[in-house]
Amino acid sequence: MKYATLLPSNKKIPINTIFCVGQNYAEHAKEMGGTVASTPVIFLKPSNAVIENGTPILLPKLSNNVHHEVELTVLVGKRGRNISKADAMAHVAGYGVGLDMTMRDVQLEAKKSGNPWSIAKGFFTSAPLSPFIEAANIPDPHQLNISLKVNGTERQRTNTSKMNFKVDDLIVFLSSVFSLEEGDIIYTGTPEGVAQVVAGDVLEAEILTVGTLTHTVV
Ligand code: MG
Repeated sequence: MKYATLLPSNKKIPINTIFCVGQNYAEHAKEMGGTVASTPVIFLKPSNAVIENGTPILLPKLSNNVHHEVELTVLVGKRGRNISKADAMAHVAGYGVGLDMTMRDVQLEAKKSGNPWSIAKGFFTSAPLSPFIEAANIPDPHQLNISLKVNGTERQRTNTSKMNFKVDDLIVFLSSVFSLEEGDIIYTGTPEGVAQVVAGDVLEAEILTVGTLTHTVV
């Protein structure tokens, strides 16, 4: 069982379902050769893919092109189904930093053949996740500077204001399809600048006022 940590209370919450949003920043959708979708693109990661800050990211044998994707993550604190937009933010327990590590070559092959993305997105160590800062301490999750450095060089930087589907939109949509439970996590999508990582790389992800992650690729 993996746990999410909520700060500053240090409360541990068992991680339930991990929902991830694809193509939620226009510039990233463009670099992938697409556009932002009219309904959210959703895929899942298994909870055993989660690693905490500092744990090495293991390159899978199946891929020759693993990419970094830095993302704002949302911890769901309260169950609900068909949650209204007005109620949506009351279901958020906290916000964190996540990396959605992706076998890009395997994903592109899956896209081409119409197969699921589970292998490309859900492999062991593919979900680095920081502790979560209680939502009350983050006045606006859509005004956060988010960045990623590899070996000290900046690769991704934007502001969460550029997200297409906002946190409340995602909660409305996910709860209408799946229902949401305490301990669910939402990876809200990555901005542009995704690129390959290789063994020995050091990844430093940061969302100002939310947290940081530092991981070595092995
Ligand atoms: Mg992603």
